[in-house]
Amino acid sequence: MNIPRTSYPRIVIIGGGFAGVALAKKLSKREVQVVLLDKNNYHTFQPLLYQVSTGGLEPDSIAYPIRKILKNFPNFHFRLANVNEIDAESNKVITNIGELKFEYLVIASGAKTNYFGNKVIEAHSMAMKTIPQSLNLRSLILENFEDALLTSDLNERNALMNFVIVGGGPTGVELAGALAEIKKGILPKDYPDLDTRLAQIHIIQSSDCILKGMSKKASEKAEDFLEKLGVNIWKNVRVTNYDGMTVTTNTDLTFETATLIWAAGVKGATIKGMDETYMVTKGNRLLVNAYNQVKGFEHIFAVGDVANMLTDSFPNGLPMMAQPAIQQGDQLGDNLLRLIEGKPMEPFVYKDKGVMATIGRNKAVVDLKRFKFQGIFAWYVWMFVHLFFLIGFRNRVVVFVNWVYNYIRFDREARLIIRPFKTRRKVKG
Ligand SMILES: Cc1cc2nc3c(=O)[nH]c(=O)nc-3n(C[C@H](O)[C@H](O)[C@H](O)COP(=O)(O)OP(=O)(O)OC[C@H]3O[C@@H](n4cnc5c(N)ncnc54)[C@H](O)[C@@H]3O)c2cc1C
Repeated sequence: MNIPRTSYPRIVIIGGGFAGVALAKKLSKREVQVVLLDKNNYHTFQPLLYQVSTGGLEPDSIAYPIRKILKNFPNFHFRLANVNEIDAESNKVITNIGELKFEYLVIASGAKTNYFGNKVIEAHSMAMKTIPQSLNLRSLILENFEDALLTSDLNERNALMNFVIVGGGPTGVELAGALAEIKKGILPKDYPDLDTRLAQIHIIQSSDCILKGMSKKASEKAEDFLEKLGVNIWKNVRVTNYDGMTVTTNTDLTFETATLIWAAGVKGATIKGMDETYMVTKGNRLLVNAYNQVKGFEHIFAVGDVANMLTDSFPNGLPMMAQPAIQQGDQLGDNLLRLIEGKPMEPFVYKDKGVMATIGRNKAVVDLKRFKFQGIFAWYVWMFVHLFFLIGFRNRVVVFVNWVYNYIRFDREARLIIRPFKTRRKVKG
């Protein structure tokens, strides 16, 4: 990999997401050598992926080059590499570009979509965990309307204009709200010769409420907002299969759709060699102690979504969200330096800053520790927080300008099929 050997201890970080970047920033200008490995050369701001999928933002505005984040850090090396295996016995990582020895290893590989073992659903549904996946979804949504225009088969046209989202968490809710706004504000203008009022948006949720992790008030208000936007919410329904056209559920309900979006869960992105059953908990996350050390190891750590830290307040593990990842990365930076200097490490304590979700224009729900509020003020808070945590001044400006423009013009100009997702289906004309 052409990484020089120095007198400094080498810390290898796998993943330049929220946790990996927070850790890297903490270790900058310290007497350690840091090697950051990521399969992408950019950091992704996942909370805004749904806006890329729905044409509200260009992908470049929610991605940031990892090399630019590290550019002024001495003793830092970035390699574009997919880590295939961790050899904990020989202290090395095995990647597609070679092997690398480490003194300390930090696994910050995040999470991937969880289909709960259903390969058929995995093969036919759309996920929204990465920028390429979001662009696929954007293309598919637009391609479906182009095809709907061509067919004279009513059932096929309806299926092309129906969108089924599995999972009523923040991702499902935000996506449904954005699709509903497209249906109302954009489709009638773009497709005047198509009866776009027939387009349907469904959320299927296996439990009895949406936004389950939030307060009752937030959940009810979000449901109210979505229903007013025309989104159909099906609670206590579980999707059992999808063959690319028909969604079957554990009830009598079935849905005909050309687009099933799977937002029903994620699982830790563990890596071969560190995925033994004794160290992996529910959700495929690596069990870590209060210092983020992976069970059984003193010098191997995990932070962020891939790590499962069980605490009194979160007995099932910290939420898989940006804040725990950032806070863990940040604190591990201090702890690694303490460890290297022979000082005792400090246990991680999660500062819960709250949860929020937006449903659409002027509509959001915010649960802070002390205050819970919904509506337009919540929407402003949601926008401010997302702009604040976005990496890069240019990205903040671009996103802000886009939002103002979209707000004033009721528009989403990034509705472009730049890279078609599928070969156009043969529509029955
Ligand atoms: C659609 C969506 C919406 C979300 N909305 C919110 C929200 O509103 N608020 C919130 O707090 N959280 C939200 N989240 C969750 C939040 O984004 C994650 O909790 C957060 O990204 C976790 O940070 P991380 O550093 O652990 O992992 P990530 O940010 O996922 O980073 C992991 C990195 O590791 C790299 N990687 C993985 N495996 C390998 C490998 N084998 N080799 C090399 N590199 C590898 C990846 O390329 C990636 O860059 C959302 C997530 C999604 C998908």
